Amino acid sequence: MFCFQCEQTANCSACSGASGVCGKSGAAAQAQDNLTGALITLAGMNSKDYNLFIDGLFTTVTNVNFSVKSIEALIQRAGVKPYDMTQIWNADEDIRSLKSLILFGLRGMAAYAYHARALGYSDDEVNAFFVKALAALGKDLGMDDLLPLVMETGRVNLKCMELLDRANTQTYGTPSPAEVETEIEKGPFIVITGHDLRDLELLLKQTEGKGINIYTHGEMLPAHGYPELRKYNHLKGNFGTAWQNQQKEFDSIPGALLFTTNCLMPPKASYIDRVFTTGLVDFEGVAHIDEAKDFSPVIKKALDLGGYDEYQPGKTLSTGFGHGTILGLADKVIESVKSGAIKHFFLVAGCDGIKSSRNYYREFVKKTPDDTIVLTLACGKFRFNDLDLGNIGGIPRLLDMGQCNDAYGAVKVASALAEAFGCSVNDLPLSLILSWYEQKAVCILLSLLSLGIKDIRLGPTLPAFVSQNVLKYLVENFAIKPITTPDEDLKAIIKH
Ligand code: SF4
Ligand code: SF4
Repeated sequence: MFCFQCEQTANCSACSGASGVCGKSGAAAQAQDNLTGALITLAGMNSKDYNLFIDGLFTTVTNVNFSVKSIEALIQRAGVKPYDMTQIWNADEDIRSLKSLILFGLRGMAAYAYHARALGYSDDEVNAFFVKALAALGKDLGMDDLLPLVMETGRVNLKCMELLDRANTQTYGTPSPAEVETEIEKGPFIVITGHDLRDLELLLKQTEGKGINIYTHGEMLPAHGYPELRKYNHLKGNFGTAWQNQQKEFDSIPGALLFTTNCLMPPKASYIDRVFTTGLVDFEGVAHIDEAKDFSPVIKKALDLGGYDEYQPGKTLSTGFGHGTILGLADKVIESVKSGAIKHFFLVAGCDGIKSSRNYYREFVKKTPDDTIVLTLACGKFRFNDLDLGNIGGIPRLLDMGQCNDAYGAVKVASALAEAFGCSVNDLPLSLILSWYEQKAVCILLSLLSLGIKDIRLGPTLPAFVSQNVLKYLVENFAIKPITTPDEDLKAIIKH
């Protein structure tokens, strides 16, 4: 196998043994390459099967689908001879790097398009770009052709994230601040994880009045901010933390687990019988709920398991500071900046992961000065969202803007602040400290670069698929830099 698309890739180079660090088998990796190759062939034929492009690309995102059988079903759906992906993996390293940036960006973008489509939203430009960019991957192109396409991937992804933002807020209302309990009540319960709000809504409807409590996990935590979801009384709170802690947190859990999207960790024997996947998530040996979305088997499993005998104590988290809420506070925020009460904003956002070096983000947030605001989103926040940073004149110092799917909101807030202060985003007292793990983070990064945003600090390591020359281009044009230590980085930032 050859795969180097995520941050935990073997030796910061590539997974190439019998299976990947994530648990993906060599056979599944090969099937994913064949699926990608089939999509490239189809795009070269100018196919308009946008649903297949979106499903096929999202299926190959890290920790979504480990099942050779279901990946092969998608290849069958394509019905064409796959383009040979080794032509990309064995290409000149700069060409391979740029094509990887485009492909992995497209995979992340497909995740956003998939969630928007689930709520009935799509966009012609986004759809057409999947075809254009995939077709380009199968062509013999040089750096001068590929670099603009990398930037276009970022620009179109911004449009796709805006589409998803509209889909979510028009369907479930504008998120508002919510206190979320992590205590678990006695009795049957279901934990739902992933990013698919529609699956959560359907599960809430199907469990109403059945004596089952629903808890979010991981990237589903921000669901509590949406009025149309939190109106359900049996949506009780949040269980556990980020995706990489699943095997520890789900060990022998007396409740059912529903995985709606990434990030799925291979389930352990102690809980595999109570795991259900749906949508594009699939794992051999795990029950799958098909597109009819009849969650009866999940409900039955929760009732059979019965839940905890005793109440499990927890703490309180907060979420729901979407761009609607933050922009509602705009006057107060601007006033506080002008008066000097707020000196700086940090966007500490992105994925979480296994590496202990990710503790950087907790230490960084802990050390941010009292006159600064920390905006966060995506599951990296679980490294520090238990911290009480206090508030500045009633504005909480730590504001959770939502899922990685809500990154568009951060761009909107930054643009609004820049407009209010009559400057560019790069001139704002705002620093971006990002953590990446998989391909959604790649497309978000490309979107930020396409907006001309500079000085992004990225960690915990730089992507293995970025060649020296491509990195040089990014450093020279965008001053992108790796994280160092919280003290050093804070010193460098606050000095400016
Ligand atoms: S997704 Fe990441 S961990 Fe899994 S095989 Fe690919 S590079 Fe390795
Ligand atoms: S933020 Fe990234 S790592 Fe976390 S669940 Fe979302 S996609 Fe996965």
